[in-house]
Amino acid sequence: MSDIIKLLPENVANQIAAGEVVQRPASVVKELMENAIDAGATSIKLFAKDAGKTLIQLTDNGKGMSITDARLCFERHATSKITSSDDLFHIQTKGFRGEALASIASIAQVEMRTRMEHEDVGTQVTIEASKVQQQEPVQCQAGTTFYVKNLFFNVPARRYFLKSDAIELRHMIDEFQRIALTHPEVEFQFSHNGAEVFMLPVSTLRQRIVHVFGSKYNEKLVPVEEHTDIVSVSGFIGKPETARKTRGEQFFFINRRFIKNTYLNHAVTSAFQDLLAQGNFPLYLLYLEIDPTQIDINIHPTKTEVKFQDERAVYAIIHAAVRRALGKFSIAPSIDFDQETSISISPVLLNSELQPPKIDINPAFNPFGTPEAISNRSINLRGWFDRRENAASGWQDLMEVAAQIDKQSVPAQTLELDTQEEMHFMQHSRSYIVCACAERLLIIDQQRAHQRVRYEHFMQLTTTGKASVQQCLFPETFEVTTQQFATIDAFKSELESLGFRFSANGSNSVHLEGIPSECAQAGGEATFMDALSALENEEGSSASVGERLCWRMASSGSIRYGQMLTEPEMETLFQQLMQCKQPYYWRNQKPIIVQFDASTLSNYFN
Ligand code: ADP
Ligand code: MG
Repeated sequence: MSDIIKLLPENVANQIAAGEVVQRPASVVKELMENAIDAGATSIKLFAKDAGKTLIQLTDNGKGMSITDARLCFERHATSKITSSDDLFHIQTKGFRGEALASIASIAQVEMRTRMEHEDVGTQVTIEASKVQQQEPVQCQAGTTFYVKNLFFNVPARRYFLKSDAIELRHMIDEFQRIALTHPEVEFQFSHNGAEVFMLPVSTLRQRIVHVFGSKYNEKLVPVEEHTDIVSVSGFIGKPETARKTRGEQFFFINRRFIKNTYLNHAVTSAFQDLLAQGNFPLYLLYLEIDPTQIDINIHPTKTEVKFQDERAVYAIIHAAVRRALGKFSIAPSIDFDQETSISISPVLLNSELQPPKIDINPAFNPFGTPEAISNRSINLRGWFDRRENAASGWQDLMEVAAQIDKQSVPAQTLELDTQEEMHFMQHSRSYIVCACAERLLIIDQQRAHQRVRYEHFMQLTTTGKASVQQCLFPETFEVTTQQFATIDAFKSELESLGFRFSANGSNSVHLEGIPSECAQAGGEATFMDALSALENEEGSSASVGERLCWRMASSGSIRYGQMLTEPEMETLFQQLMQCKQPYYWRNQKPIIVQFDASTLSNYFN
C-alpha cells in the first residue's frame, strides 16, 4: 500500500521556526492528540500514569501507518501533511512541522503499534532516545497506539524541573480540553492512574462544553453566530453574572486550533463593557473560521500564536458579534438587533490605533491655594476639612498632585508616632481616612489599609497554622470543573492552613464544612471559589502560591471604597495598620499612607 510520508526539503524545514516542542507531559498529550485528529480518528483514548511522567498512552482509531511510515514518522521533518513551502500558507491539519514524534522519541522510551484498516497485520516500533530498538509485525486493532514512557529519562535536568503531579496533571487537562472542545464529533476518554477524568461521547458543541465544564454551565451559555467575508465567528459567551476572577475559561479557536491572543481578548472583554464587575473575566469559547491564507500560524513551535493579515477587522467583527449576542439575549441594552442583517464595522475601530486611556495631571495645581483656604488660616483642622469636602477639587486630586510634587513626604515611609498623641479621625469621600495629629496630617487609603492588615494576618496563618475556622451551619456541596478539582487537590494544604475545611472526593464535587472566620459574612461557596481563583493561572506571576492566596483572601472580604466608617472603626483600623510589618504600601508599590508634616504644609502656604 502507498507510503505517504516524505522528508521535507531542507529549505522548507528551515522555514519552520526551530524550537522546543516538548516541555512537559502535557506537550506530549497535545502532539499525540493532534496527530490522532489529523489521522481522522473518531475515538481517542488517553491513559496516563503519574501525571504522564511514567506513562502516556494514546489510542486512536484513525487511518494508521504503513510499515515504512511507522519508522519514518520518528525522523525529524518527516510529515505527510505538507510537501512544499506554499503548503505552509494553506494549512488545514493541526500538525505540519514533522517534528513532534522525533522530539518525543528523543527524550522518552516510545513504543508504537499501528495498523491500516485494510492490512491484516500491523507494525510495532520501539524507539528510545532516537534509536530504533525494534520493528516487527504485530496483531493489533486498526489505528495507532503510542506508549510514551519515562519522559526525560535521559535528560535528568528536564525531569527535575517538572512540577508536582497535581500541577502537571492540570496542564494535561488543559491541553486535553482544548482539543476536546474543538472536536465534539470525536469521542474522547481520559483516565489518570486508573481513575476516569473525562468520558466524552460524540455530541453537539454545546453538550461537549457542558460535559467538559459541568452541567451548571448549560444555562450560562449565550450563543454567538456571525458570518462575514473576512471571518466567521461562532460559539458561546457566558452571561455576565457568570464571570470569574480568573481568565480560566476563555478560549479562542481559529480553524479548530486553540490560540492565545490578548488583542482579540480585548475585543471580547470590551464588548461586555460595564456589564462586568471590575476584575472579573467573562467566560467565552469563540470559534473563528478564516481563510488559511489570511493567517500565519507558524510563529511558535507550539502553534498557539497566530498572525492575521487584517487583525483590526477581525477585532471589530468579534467585538460586534459579542455585542450583538449580548443584545439579542437582552443582556445589554442595545438597538434592535433583529432588524440588522449584517454587522457594520465602525470606521473608527478600523482606522485608528487603539490607545490606552490617559490621565492628565497638572503638576502646578496647588490644592491649598484657593482663596477660601487662605482666608481661613485660624480655623482648626477639623472644620477646615469639613469645608474642603465640598470644594470643587476633591482629595483625589490632592493625593495625585501631592504624589507628583513632593516625593519626600509622600507617601509615608516611616512614622514615629507618639502613642499618647491625640488623634482625630474623619472620613473623606468614604474612601480616605484623614488623621490629624499634633505634628502631621495623615491620609490613609481605607481599602488598601484593610487589605494590608488582612494580608499580613493571613500570611501569618500560613506559617503558624493557627487558622480560626467558622464551621458552616449547613455544609455546602457544589460542583467544580475537572480543572478546578485538580487545582484544589494540588493546594489542599494551603487552603486548609487558612481555615478552609472541606473534602473533595471523586465526581468533581466539593463538600465544604468550614471557612476562615475572617470571611464569615460572605457565603461559603463564594469565599471558596474566590480563593480557588487565586490558585489558578499560576503562570506569569512571581508571587508564591501562599502570597497569591493571601492577597485574594485579603481583598475579597475587605473594607471597600464607599463604605462609611465610624470614628472608632477608623481608629481601630489605623492601630491595626500600624502593627503591620509593611503599613505603607499595598501590592505593586501602591501607597497606603500619605503624610504631610508641619514643614511640608507650611511650604504650601509660602
Ligand atoms: P506532523 O504532525 O507535524 O506531521 P509528527 O511528528 O507529529 O509531525 O508526525 C509525523 C507523521 O507521522 C505525520 O505527518 C503522520 O503522517 C504520521 N502520524 C503521526 N501520528 C499518527 C497517527 N496517530 N496516525 C496516523 N499517522 C500518524
Ligand atoms: Mg503532529
